Amino acid sequence: MYQVTGKILGVTERASYFIDNLRLGLNPLFFIDIIIVAILFYWAYIFLKETRAMRILYGFMFLVALLAIGAVLNLVLLNWILKNLMTMLVVAIPVVFQPELRSVLERVGRSKFLSDKVFSKDDYSSVINEILLAVKRLSEQKIGALIVLQRQTGLREYCENGIELDANISAQMLLSIFFPKSPLHDGAIIISGDKIISARSTLPVTDTDMSTDIGMRHKAAIGVTEGSDAVAIVVSEETGGVSLAVGGRLEKRISDERLKNRLIGLMRYGNNKNK
Ligand code: ATP
Ligand code: MG
Repeated sequence: MYQVTGKILGVTERASYFIDNLRLGLNPLFFIDIIIVAILFYWAYIFLKETRAMRILYGFMFLVALLAIGAVLNLVLLNWILKNLMTMLVVAIPVVFQPELRSVLERVGRSKFLSDKVFSKDDYSSVINEILLAVKRLSEQKIGALIVLQRQTGLREYCENGIELDANISAQMLLSIFFPKSPLHDGAIIISGDKIISARSTLPVTDTDMSTDIGMRHKAAIGVTEGSDAVAIVVSEETGGVSLAVGGRLEKRISDERLKNRLIGLMRYGNNKNK
């Protein structure tokens, strides 16, 4: 008990020493310093919030909190494990996040960020109608397609691995993208608000054990919805069947009517609020 209070005292002492130092350093540069750091943190947050890195960052913050608790309460075993884990993470993070880090650095170099418009709900029924019309035609003609509708989670990383677009949504546009001879027909298209923001995007393929009759297109639809709140519509080129993936679950061979109702329900709330 003595040791615990001793530790806590030690921490508070150090904190007040730190605050005293801050008071001493009250000069204009000090504020500039703080403002720059705040802007950097804000930028980091904006960049990360649209990627899978954010969830991992939460995990990392949890580990740091545990480490702090371990240090205050002097939990030797926990400290030992966490310290070693941290050392490992410092090496692992740049490797795991190499794509994100690269894209952050690229963006710092470019001044214009991908900007999507704020989207009003009323317009969305016309967008859904155009999508439904296209899906019906694609299904009738057995043309394979993978359409991802972005909701809250940004899908920037998948836009960047494809061809970035800024096209208005119409059934004609969707059909011409997926037409088998079109250079853009392969991979997925991503829709954000009332725009098609990318084509030929490669999505993460689910690695949960699946029956072998599910191909890559369907696995990619499941994969993208596992890691985000996006909605994915798949048209099978083998059967013409339409499937819908949400939250990592695939509803196979759904009817036009059901698809319409599902899309209206799913796109009603939280559509592109992060924009
Ligand atoms: P279908 O029923 O249409 O044949 P499937 O689920 O059997 O679909 P595959 O035949 O394995 O899928 O793949 C067909 C197409 O799916 C590919 O040509 C490609 O356009 C697309 N695809 C495959 N993997 C991915 C991926 N990771 N991300 C996006 N699109 C993909
Ligand atoms: Mg196939």
